[in-house]
Amino acid sequence: MSPRWNWDFEDEPRPRRVVPRLPLKQLQPSGDARYRRRRLGAALIVALVAIVLVIALASHGSGGPSPAGANAHRPQATAPSEPAVDTREREQKAVASVLAYTPFIRSGAGRKREIALTFDDGPGPYTPQVLDVLEREHVPATFFVIGIELRYFSASTVREIRDGFVIGDHTETHPMLAQLSAHDQREELFEQAARIELLGGPRPTLFRPPYGSFNQTTFALLHQMHMLMVLWSVDTDDYQEPGVEVIVHRALEGAAPGAIILMHDAGGDRTQTIAALPTIIGALRKRGYRLVTVPQLLHDDPPPAGQPLPTNLSGG
Ligand code: ZN
Repeated sequence: MSPRWNWDFEDEPRPRRVVPRLPLKQLQPSGDARYRRRRLGAALIVALVAIVLVIALASHGSGGPSPAGANAHRPQATAPSEPAVDTREREQKAVASVLAYTPFIRSGAGRKREIALTFDDGPGPYTPQVLDVLEREHVPATFFVIGIELRYFSASTVREIRDGFVIGDHTETHPMLAQLSAHDQREELFEQAARIELLGGPRPTLFRPPYGSFNQTTFALLHQMHMLMVLWSVDTDDYQEPGVEVIVHRALEGAAPGAIILMHDAGGDRTQTIAALPTIIGALRKRGYRLVTVPQLLHDDPPPAGQPLPTNLSGG
């Protein structure tokens, strides 16, 4: 319903600009030699001032303090982020190499005593406390983030990106993907990934399906988007708030080399999860496990090809 742009309107000022020039030219006293000399003198002064200005600006630009200042800042800006860039590159390569032979994983191969803690449904009001525990214990982890939650809690995801946690795609609105059209599934994955990039994070290459719901359309989409579906081998069911001891018990019972443990940092009251975390971390370390991100697990302990696709998933 918006009115079409009136192109004629844009042309209207043109004659007005031309009209005043004509009388100006006509006013020039072309026959007066003294007037021409004065005009020539004035033009020379203007030209000289212009030359002096150009020289002054050029010398300021080449020899001033600003380039030295810029050089002084450059190493400060790049030096701290270089290891992070190396890690990110290694993570992306690990994901790509696994993606070359399987579209999904449930765990590592189990050849190394490494376990990946994963947290779904954030960011939310409890995410900062989860991050506090993980950072205090120096535990890397992987977060499968819901796009719309970034409207309210993006500060936590910015913190995750800054502090080197891995961010995966957990869709934009947390639907049952298998019930959506190809177009809507694509929107769900793409919008979340775009939000993460807008926050300054690397484009997610890991994906976790809400409720473990996916179909062949999802796999086709993940193939197009170069994303690996990350399922899990241990479900703590922490979102059902079964009690701190039950959450700890489930995590430790399922713990095995290459395990991927599913927990939640949002989607409800996560007090029990936060209380269980230090015990889980301590116990796993006591058993000789190293806690890693999912890409690190893929790098150190890549899963074998041809793992059976689970059909009765309900977590995530
Ligand atoms: Zn979820």
